[in-house]
Amino acid sequence: MQYDVIVIGAGAAGLMCAATAGQRGRRVLLLDHARKLAEKIRISGGGRCNFTNLHARFDCYLSANPHFCRSALAQYTPQDFIAMVERHGIGYHEKKLGQLFCDDGSERIIAMLDEECRLGGVDRRMETQILKVSREADGFALDTGAGSFRATSLVVATGGLSIPQIGATPFGYQLAEQFGLELTPLTPALVPLTFHVEDAEAFAPLAGVSLEVEASAGKGRFRENVLFTHKGVSGPAILQASSYWQPGMTLELDLLPDADAAAWLEQKAGSEQLIANALAEFGWPKRFAEAWLEREGCNKRLKDLSPKQRQQLAERLHGWRVKPNGTQGYKKAEVTLGGVSTKALSSKTMMANAVPGLFFIGEVVDVTGWLGGYNFQWAWSSGYVAGMHC
Ligand code: FAD
Repeated sequence: MQYDVIVIGAGAAGLMCAATAGQRGRRVLLLDHARKLAEKIRISGGGRCNFTNLHARFDCYLSANPHFCRSALAQYTPQDFIAMVERHGIGYHEKKLGQLFCDDGSERIIAMLDEECRLGGVDRRMETQILKVSREADGFALDTGAGSFRATSLVVATGGLSIPQIGATPFGYQLAEQFGLELTPLTPALVPLTFHVEDAEAFAPLAGVSLEVEASAGKGRFRENVLFTHKGVSGPAILQASSYWQPGMTLELDLLPDADAAAWLEQKAGSEQLIANALAEFGWPKRFAEAWLEREGCNKRLKDLSPKQRQQLAERLHGWRVKPNGTQGYKKAEVTLGGVSTKALSSKTMMANAVPGLFFIGEVVDVTGWLGGYNFQWAWSSGYVAGMHC
């Protein structure tokens, strides 16, 4: 069967692209190997889909070319997506830091995109295995478990590698390679970090403890909560920092981001109080204070600290350094860092420079957003842009 456009991947970017192209009058076929539509939207944002971020700007994204995402983000903005959400009567709220969530479940967003595809007359086939993709003089031919299809444009929206149990595959990267497009290295991002055994054991009793910190790794610095786990650390501050963390790097946590620890310790010098109890002033859970001070060899009374020890303790409170030994991998990662090199694509259309008619959109591309709705905004923006040009 002949179409104008075939979109592979009925996730966030693929649905947006198919709807946009369909509503332009293009004859669109949307293919996916999964049984259910847009599983990642369904599980996103704890089931409420953090569908965009009011502050989505190019500098909230990681990419070998940090400017690549500018054009798509300008062509389709968070306000454009919000307008669609409002048109469909979907209630939403800002949780914090510009993060917009549905009042009800993520299903509302899936139903909205499904309806937009219906308005564009998009044909959709789920549970369809794609066996072979080949280039022809006037477009692309696909052999699938449901027959052969042809189209002048092919859009690849197969996402990243995270959560393989709900349908993630490396198919998009393999297609890029088949057509000679370069890939940047792939690694799990927005992912919990793990500790070496001795650190993990020391902090295991703290699993579940959460604390506001400023976490930094490489060039990433984020003020949010850290959550101790049985294996290491998680929570928004760590997920954010993980995108900047590389094996061998130290993770640094400012455990008292609002205080001047040196001045505070100076003021308390001579006090009979245990340091662990005094730290409750900053909202530290006692069991965390005790375990942390124990590990720092400092579980004592304030009056027992020498001036030098006060200075060292202040430094560690503002710059506690731990060396993670890895991440929890694609099983727990929200996204994949890296992907189809932006060098191979036009930022204005998302089309491959060397292969007219072939487009890559969404997470399969080397553009990775921060935590907080940025990744969906990239999916909507890049999907829209390709939908306008395919
Ligand atoms: P996907 O949405 O992953 O869609 C890819 C589609 O391609 C899937 O339907 C898949 O079945 C299909 N596919 C894959 N391989 C093949 C193949 N071989 N043949 C046919 N079809 C194939 N981002 C946010 O902005 N806000 C959030 O609240 C948020 N929460 C998240 C929570 C979790 C637990 C996870 C894992 C991610 C979350 N993300 C969130 C990230 C966001 O889900 C992704 O960045 C986004 O879904 C990427 O969109 P995409 O269309 O590129 O890929």
